[in-house]
Amino acid sequence: MTAQREWFEKDYYKILGIAEDATPKDVTRAYRQLARKYHPDTNAGDATAEERFKEVSAAYDVVGDPEKRKEYDELRRLGPAAGMGDGAWGGGFGAGGPGPGGGGFRVEDLGGLGDLLGGMFGRGARRGGARGATTARKGADLEADLHLAFGDAVHGVTTTLTLTSEALCSTCGGSGAAPGTTPVTCSRCGGRGVVDDNQGFFSFSQPCPACAGRGTIVETPCPTCVGRGVERRPRDVKVRIPAGVEDGQRIRLAGRGEPGRSGGPAGDLYVRVQVGQHDRFGRKGGDLTLSVPITYAEATLGTELTVPTLDGPTVTVRIPSGTRHGRTFRVRGRGVEAKKGTGDLLVTVEIAVPKNPSGRERELLEQLAQLDDGSLRAHLVGG
Ligand SMILES: [Zn+2]
Ligand SMILES: [Zn+2]
Repeated sequence: MTAQREWFEKDYYKILGIAEDATPKDVTRAYRQLARKYHPDTNAGDATAEERFKEVSAAYDVVGDPEKRKEYDELRRLGPAAGMGDGAWGGGFGAGGPGPGGGGFRVEDLGGLGDLLGGMFGRGARRGGARGATTARKGADLEADLHLAFGDAVHGVTTTLTLTSEALCSTCGGSGAAPGTTPVTCSRCGGRGVVDDNQGFFSFSQPCPACAGRGTIVETPCPTCVGRGVERRPRDVKVRIPAGVEDGQRIRLAGRGEPGRSGGPAGDLYVRVQVGQHDRFGRKGGDLTLSVPITYAEATLGTELTVPTLDGPTVTVRIPSGTRHGRTFRVRGRGVEAKKGTGDLLVTVEIAVPKNPSGRERELLEQLAQLDDGSLRAHLVGG
């Protein structure tokens, strides 16, 4: 009898330190590890270890058995622990194990079971739907645009987004009833939120169609939310943007979407990033780009350039003689430092052509021009 009662009160997954969808192999591994750790042979006289050992064994007894685990999961899904344990269920359950139907409970006291299920669902649903058996719903996913400064996209940033989405109504606190009134108990289901469909030994419970599983009916709807219990309003969401995000990238922030209803999980928030320009640098994935003008003389004779980096000190880039216009030099490790690795700084040289050369410049250029033997375009001439 206590075995089943414990199913409501104990989180066997938590005790074993595993996820609810852990594979049988993981379950066994977790159990063996803990059993070894808390085994009385190695913890002689340690009452806490002994207690833990018993807990772990009890958990594995259920979760380690596919049939029992199925029933346990089902019970957890249906019955909020909050509605249990106040004596209302008076010993209705049998000693565990699959019932005659294979997936049911073994029942020693049918009257007791009826009470129990009724109490379980009713209480679950009546508590403002706080984990109600039928109304829990995942919140909607949301999308938002976020404009980031160039440096913030490179380094990552924690910022606050203001989103307008559905949230519990601030006028009625989510009850849907006008201030000064309260929702009345649903007469169809008597406030249980479920109606029974009797089939042989078992009562299969379904959401009450009259109150949609809430257990209550709103007679005077809240003027703000018209009885829905939710309204659209702005709220601030703190978001952490990782280093290295790119313009146009969509970032999923789990659980930051619309709040769940009736104890359901929150939806996800998708943030689309728009990255602003930098007055010097550009971005190509994890690499930073930089254009550096050089003269015809520097390109021809070669030179050493001192170029800035985004965060650190300047670096020297050696330009060999005979460098053509548009050639790119790579400075390793001076790009975006992101989780997936650090990029490079790509320095592209552009040969600048003076629009108005000074007198002396013009003089020298004219001398240079006189040296031209026409070989540059020789291949295009004649034929
Ligand atoms: Zn109802
Ligand atoms: Zn309202």
